[in-house]
Amino acid sequence: MANPSLLILAGDGIGPEVMTEVKKIITWFGTKRGVHFDVTEDLVGGCAYDKHGTPLHDDTMARAMQVDAVLLGAVGGPAYDNLDFSVKPERGLLRLRKEMDLFSNLRPAQCFDALADFSSLKKDIISGLDIMIVRELTSGVYFGEPRGIFPDNEGGRVGVNTQRYTTNEIRRVARSAFELAKRRGNKVCSMEKANVMESGILWREEVQWVHDHEYPEVELSHMYADNGAMQLVRWPKQFDVIVTDNLFGDILSDCAAMLTGSLGMLPSASLGAVQANGRPKALYEPVHGSAPDIAGQGKANPIACILSFAMALRYSFDMGDDAARVEKAVETVLANGARTADLMDKDGGTPISTTQMGDAILAA
Ligand code: ATP
Ligand code: MG
Repeated sequence: MANPSLLILAGDGIGPEVMTEVKKIITWFGTKRGVHFDVTEDLVGGCAYDKHGTPLHDDTMARAMQVDAVLLGAVGGPAYDNLDFSVKPERGLLRLRKEMDLFSNLRPAQCFDALADFSSLKKDIISGLDIMIVRELTSGVYFGEPRGIFPDNEGGRVGVNTQRYTTNEIRRVARSAFELAKRRGNKVCSMEKANVMESGILWREEVQWVHDHEYPEVELSHMYADNGAMQLVRWPKQFDVIVTDNLFGDILSDCAAMLTGSLGMLPSASLGAVQANGRPKALYEPVHGSAPDIAGQGKANPIACILSFAMALRYSFDMGDDAARVEKAVETVLANGARTADLMDKDGGTPISTTQMGDAILAA
């Protein structure tokens, strides 16, 4: 069988710095485990604009469509702030998501024991926390038509967005949530506002349909999203997988993620349709951005990017044991007290560098 293929797009700012640490781990898999990845590296974002005048070259896009998984660092930075909208670095990422049709965005919120005290929340609320938010990523109010700012009939203006979901859009993201739940705690909670929104009513009905017809063995509950936000903060361990729409997912996933610590710790996966080879189209990236304030200083925490690679092992390459091995190494290193600057209390010790953190994880 062909080697698993990976396209690495390190991007801008701290992207290349954190990706360097991931590449060490990829090399480790080749030399120590005999798992060889067929890796291509290319440009995305501001660096691609500098070279090609576009944030994503067509050849790069074509390669992304061919590989088993794309691993992305971060895009953007102050140097590109004044570019025309059509060539802004973020457009490169949006094009990838759109053309790969990545409709299911997975954001875990997982608490590493060593950091349970670091969070400002009570330890018993977050220790051992391991939940996953599945956010619909390609439809809903961020894309619905009509949209725009129009004159109203009182001499003012009206801003319009349209929340819109089809049966197919809801069912496919629901399936991805149920599939995930089967590999985890076997429990899905679907969140919408069926009490006040038509799209919420359809959402609830279609998620229930997928459950009843295809995944009756998975436990399903429904919750209004406002109550969901409250429950997430009050007692997040009641959840396993949460599935929700684009807008609510945007908010709820940020909220859930920050239960557990720094932006520098948070991975994500964006998945599309399952292809003929049984693998979903997939893009993995840390939740954080290019962090221009610390770029080039060796301060960035590489853990979010390393955990994103672990998600690739699990969801694209069926290497769940190896994913767990990487996650365990991160846990061990944190338990031993290794901290990049973003993980330090105001009063605490000397932080280690990006490279030192990567090397420690590799050693573990
Ligand atoms: P974007 O618009 O790309 O999301 P942003 O400005 O919203 O970017 P980030 O670039 O993620 O957000 O940076 C937000 C803050 O978090 C910055 O102060 C940055 O230094 C910090 N930060 C982000 N990622 C990391 C990391 N991996 N390690 C340490 N600090 C980080
Ligand atoms: Mg941001």
